[in-house]
Amino acid sequence: MAWEARSSPTGCINLLHGDARNSTSITVFDAKGIHTYQPGWLYVPFGEQDPHKLQRSERRLLQRDIALLSGDAGNVVRIDPAAKQLQTADGQTHAYDYLVLATGSRNAPEEVSGFAEGADHFYSEKASLALEKKLANFTGGRIVTGVASVPYRCPPAPLEFTFMLEASLRDRGLRGSTEIHYVFPINRPFPIQSVSDFVAPLLEERGVQVHTFFNTETIDPEHKIVSSLEGEDLPYDLLVLAPPHKGQQVIIDSGLGDRDGWIPTDHNTLRVKGYEDANLFAVGDATDLPVSKSGSAAHYEGHVVAETIAAEVQHRPIRELYHGRVACFLETGHGQATFLWFDYEHPPKPPKPRRLWHLEKAALNTFYWQLIPPGRV
Ligand SMILES: Cc1cc2nc3c(=O)[nH]c(=O)nc-3n(C[C@H](O)[C@H](O)[C@H](O)COP(=O)(O)OP(=O)(O)OC[C@H]3O[C@@H](n4cnc5c(N)ncnc54)[C@H](O)[C@@H]3O)c2cc1C
Repeated sequence: MAWEARSSPTGCINLLHGDARNSTSITVFDAKGIHTYQPGWLYVPFGEQDPHKLQRSERRLLQRDIALLSGDAGNVVRIDPAAKQLQTADGQTHAYDYLVLATGSRNAPEEVSGFAEGADHFYSEKASLALEKKLANFTGGRIVTGVASVPYRCPPAPLEFTFMLEASLRDRGLRGSTEIHYVFPINRPFPIQSVSDFVAPLLEERGVQVHTFFNTETIDPEHKIVSSLEGEDLPYDLLVLAPPHKGQQVIIDSGLGDRDGWIPTDHNTLRVKGYEDANLFAVGDATDLPVSKSGSAAHYEGHVVAETIAAEVQHRPIRELYHGRVACFLETGHGQATFLWFDYEHPPKPPKPRRLWHLEKAALNTFYWQLIPPGRV
């Protein structure tokens, strides 16, 4: 039995099933039973995406003979790798032979005083809809965008938002009356050096002022000031920050994560460190892997875990390891984008922004449901 929880790994659950059809039974535990295509939230604040169209029933995406438990029956509250058991919120205990953890991450606005009252973001359906209203009513002033702290989901997303915001303000005739400031916690505007080198001139060209070494410590919603641990205070009229992120409580409660709930995971086998002989794997945002918390990484990782379990069940050699592969687009505004393709050993070399990459991202956003969850790519 494997436990995977939604998103791109859905395709890999379907794949695992295809590979080991006759000898396994698979159960998915998912607290919500809903699959959300989170990349679409980026477009909601600009009125370009209806968030209700970003959700599908998990049941409809899984092959029919894969069991799905949701609600309290699917909400896992404790995992015991030594006993190979997990407990759900309805009080039931379930035994397993293999367990795949794909619990993702959660927004943790409570980590920054004043975040909930003073900052906006697009890291949930509700927040992206609220931001859409604020942007529609915005008439000029100072907008601060960026990232509160690392790690966070989809490293390009806050930059994409900033480029799209700049273009949208220009189209609305508000660029001249708006200052844009971008804050980032480390010494450059993106975690990877080659992408930083690529985006820094673009930000400068668009008149975006960059503040590095800015780890958000407090937000004063009354006076509209965001302050960093490093001692910088920035006034704002609108503040749009990727919120702090944490791993899930069940991971912390089960003693499987570090202090913030990220699961120590072998970079190549994706087995949970310290439980190498316990048939315990982790994929996606829940891990502490040194790659983007992205659907793309979760997708490639899911393939490796599906192949590993299928090989073990069928008593054949394991053919695949994970080498840190990630592939994603980065919108640069004005209907253009670039493409990031990398792994542990090879940093991305972003090509010049082009309309073609933007159209490819739009095509993926449209055909995601037909391609990824069914395991077609
Ligand atoms: C604005 C935005 C833009 C993005 N853009 C991109 C992009 O362009 N490209 C890209 O590759 N990625 C992008 N991402 C990131 C991508 O959406 C995530 O990295 C991806 O969804 C991670 O998949 P996951 O399966 O690890 O976690 P999730 O998709 O978060 O799924 C976790 C699942 O676990 C379930 N769960 C949690 N705890 C429990 C529990 N105790 N019991 C049972 N179930 C539980 C949850 O209900 C949820 O269904 C973006 C994200 C955001 C927010």
